[in-house]
Amino acid sequence: METILRVSDLHVSFAARGGKIRAVRGVNFEVKRGEAVAIVGESGSGKSVTAQSIMRLLPSPPSRIEKGSIEFKGRNLLKLPEREMEAVRGRDIGMIFQDPMTSLNPTMTVGRQITEGLFKHQGMNRTEARERAVELLRLVGIPNPEKRYGQYPHSFSGGMRQRAMIAIALACNPSLLIADEPTTALDVTIQSQILRVMKEMQERFGTSIILITHDLGVVAQLCDRVVVMYAGQVVESGTTWELFRNPQHPYTRGLLRSMPRLDLPKGKPLIPIEGTPPDLLAPPPGCAFCARCPEAMEVCADRDPELVPVGPAGQAAKCWLHHPLAKEAVR
Ligand code: SF4
Repeated sequence: METILRVSDLHVSFAARGGKIRAVRGVNFEVKRGEAVAIVGESGSGKSVTAQSIMRLLPSPPSRIEKGSIEFKGRNLLKLPEREMEAVRGRDIGMIFQDPMTSLNPTMTVGRQITEGLFKHQGMNRTEARERAVELLRLVGIPNPEKRYGQYPHSFSGGMRQRAMIAIALACNPSLLIADEPTTALDVTIQSQILRVMKEMQERFGTSIILITHDLGVVAQLCDRVVVMYAGQVVESGTTWELFRNPQHPYTRGLLRSMPRLDLPKGKPLIPIEGTPPDLLAPPPGCAFCARCPEAMEVCADRDPELVPVGPAGQAAKCWLHHPLAKEAVR
């Protein structure tokens, strides 16, 4: 399968009183055509900063992309002039945010917000754009789309607003859809409807998806692969199946133990991960998970491990327990 997005050695920082917060520290991952990739981790792990860097949505200052490249269909997005980047947003890459009420424009009808991209990027006339917008509203499961087209966001329920945002994001048939916590604010029924809509889009149009979430249940329903982030770094990646079945990093194991899961026996207690993530104003020299890790060794506090292959299906983990030199380093 063709790789459409490749993030390489991405470093992003934020200016703060007392120095620089190193929010993303050397992130690497790729997304293939038609693939759904989840980026998971606790708040502050750098997952949303990574997503917003892809879209170049972070205000600078205070943010700064220090290093790295984000290649989308062979072009480094970090080097594109802003005008070309504007064309990429909406036309090639769509984005769905957590809170549709703050992302939808309350002063414009939902129909107009969908057709805006169609005028701008697809050169459609008014009639064509209206037809396409109504079709999109129908596609994402909004009842009576002709009527809803002319209504404002405040007349939509939470679930319908989220669907409207998906319709806007999909208007120009983007090759990549980035969904940042798209279902967090929704109840479970609406959540699974929204996930179904995204899955359908992926299967029907071959859209690639990056799903940013802290909810592993959502990942299991939608994603082919998972990238686990901790303290601004990728600590494990692999297929959803392998990662759930056989997590190789102590942090991933902790995440899985702390979340309710349908595949585990009823009544199995949830075990939270003790402690807090490190201060990214001054990241520790060794493994960032060391202070919370039940399996930490002496070497872990001093030397930062690399991400190394740990399984046949491309699974990789950043942990001394799997490093070929671990024994030597521990000695
Ligand atoms: Fe735990 Fe050490 Fe592995 Fe870090 S490198 S996750 S501290 S065992």
